[in-house]
Amino acid sequence: MSAERRDVAADLPKSDAEWRERLTPEQYYILRQKGTERPWTGGYNLTKTNGMYHCAGCGAELFSSDTKFESHCGWPSFTEPLAAETVDLTTDTSHGMIRTEVTCKRCGGHLGHVFDDGPAPLGTRYCINSVSLKLEPSDS
Ligand code: FE
Repeated sequence: MSAERRDVAADLPKSDAEWRERLTPEQYYILRQKGTERPWTGGYNLTKTNGMYHCAGCGAELFSSDTKFESHCGWPSFTEPLAAETVDLTTDTSHGMIRTEVTCKRCGGHLGHVFDDGPAPLGTRYCINSVSLKLEPSDS
């Protein structure tokens, strides 16, 4: 079977141990254990480079730099995902708050949370951990 024809999901780790092997300890903590990087520490927080942000866990395309904006919250922020079917949204009641968790649709990795205080017209702020992302700069 050619690499092109193989289902990408078939390449996903099947067990927790395999995820630990694939990811760095920091990536594992955030993507698989729903951790959060400390604000202002993430590598993509202030990045303005054009390109596509992929999932650091599975490589899926998640966010375009076209939707990135400076939210002054300390994490990379986007107005919307690349497509609605790119991410899953789930109610998260941990840490005494009611928030909406954002996960990668393909691998289930934790990305961050979405809030309703983003810029008009959408009003959404996808607040995403840098560690969960891998930027592929565009050529132009
Ligand atoms: Fe993923």
